[in-house]
Amino acid sequence: MTSEFTPAIGIDLGTTFSVLARLDDKGRPTTLVNAEGERSTPSVVLFDNDEVVVGREALKAMATEPTKVADGSKRDMGQRVYHKVINGKQYPPEVIAAFVLNKLRVDAISQIGPFSKVVITVPAYFDEVRRKATQDAGYMAGFEVMDIINEPTAAAIAFGFHQGFSRDHGSPDQTHRVMVYDLGGGTFDVTVMEITGSRYTTLATDGDVQLGGYDWDQRLVDLVAEAFIRQHFCDPREDPIAAGKLWRECEDAKRTLSTRPKASVPCDYRGFSSRIEITREQFEEATRDLVDRTRFTMCQTLKAAGLDWNDLDRVLLTGGSTRMPMVRAMVRQVSGKEPDTSVAADEAVAHGAALRAGLLLDKARGKPPAFHIRNVNSHSLGVVGLDPTTKRRRNGILIPRNTPIPVTAKRVFKTQKENQRSVLVEVVEGESASADECTTVGRCTIKNLPLHLPAGSPVEVQFHYSPNGRLKVRVNVPHADSEIETEFTRENSLPKEHLDGWRRYISGLEPTNYR
Ligand code: AMP
Repeated sequence: MTSEFTPAIGIDLGTTFSVLARLDDKGRPTTLVNAEGERSTPSVVLFDNDEVVVGREALKAMATEPTKVADGSKRDMGQRVYHKVINGKQYPPEVIAAFVLNKLRVDAISQIGPFSKVVITVPAYFDEVRRKATQDAGYMAGFEVMDIINEPTAAAIAFGFHQGFSRDHGSPDQTHRVMVYDLGGGTFDVTVMEITGSRYTTLATDGDVQLGGYDWDQRLVDLVAEAFIRQHFCDPREDPIAAGKLWRECEDAKRTLSTRPKASVPCDYRGFSSRIEITREQFEEATRDLVDRTRFTMCQTLKAAGLDWNDLDRVLLTGGSTRMPMVRAMVRQVSGKEPDTSVAADEAVAHGAALRAGLLLDKARGKPPAFHIRNVNSHSLGVVGLDPTTKRRRNGILIPRNTPIPVTAKRVFKTQKENQRSVLVEVVEGESASADECTTVGRCTIKNLPLHLPAGSPVEVQFHYSPNGRLKVRVNVPHADSEIETEFTRENSLPKEHLDGWRRYISGLEPTNYR
């Protein structure tokens, strides 16, 4: 296949649902349906003996065979293993995500023919380790991941496209300042962007990778379970099957509460059966602190961008959980603006990713780009050093958060003894001064330093953040004539041979045993 016919594909790999979009022959983003005819695929995997089932059927199995089902793997990205043992096996979270991505791949190929190049989205607040895990998931699913792009940036691009801010239409003089409030199933992001003509510049970003619709579901489950206990003196949450069923009913009731003042949740356990009525007011009361957390983050991000509410033109809402009236009311109240819901909450992110994929394919064909993106890093990057007095491990920040990327920072280390042949540098991401409260990105071993270097010789280490938030490390030793080897070992990252093994297995699954 020549690059002329390569489709531009973008994927929103969501905590609860994933969406695949492509650009049509006029360059407009459109969502592709899956084999079941749905525009979004539940990011849920059922491991049923030799059969791997992804999507709606796997979601249904959560109520009947919860021990065989993996959902929400995105929340565990960056961890060594998924939090739940499935059929006695521990899977890395990116492997579970790869099964989801492969289902999207197989279903799309059956409609548009073979392709492999894609852009996948990540929460802006994902750290380096989680970004790498997402790229690895794409690789294991048989894709060539051209780029990863931040979800709010993707949403802003989709918004800009619909508003006609492209190469031909965007007025270079007019600047729109937009806050993107993205509350999905499992993650929350706030990003402040400036759109000038076809330039998308991120000014600041913040968020919480452990906050999303899932937490609202949990509160509703608790409300219903407590009411059930008052009636029948037993707790449906203690049994995995009853709990799985209750969870699905509550997620459904949560959606009802977005349009109606009350919902009734059926709950059956130990031969007792009840319908428990929950009002929107009760639900809002039980989740007020969650909304408040997002409000706090909005204010912080605006401050970090150096702006006031009056400087903002719009607050764009994306992510399925922004359909909850309590979110809209809070945004209206804090910003003094009517929230903008003009982009499709569930599809905008995938559409923006497809536009980004189109841009990269155009670039490869030598065409001028239709738009430009400038990002910031969402976490400070530092190296670990020992405090000489307290002997505590300190985070020496090299690149503070919200620095425009790409960016390069250097740090000069000194050898401690004569003829030292290697230096170990530990790289962390996070805001805390204590290294132990930060995420370890990896360890960089600088080997084969020249022989007979005197003690105190400088070793210069360069950290380079790419525009997509991925890190590269380079080393320079002045006056060294031999090749310096640098090995960057990533924390919790699968080794290449495992990635290749999983790629052969996952992307080789036939549609017959891969529904
Ligand atoms: P996303 O990851 O953006 O697809 O968002 C999925 C989340 O949005 C899930 O937690 C859903 O329960 C939630 N969601 C979708 N539609 C609604 C709705 N109408 N009201 C409340 N939450 C919703």
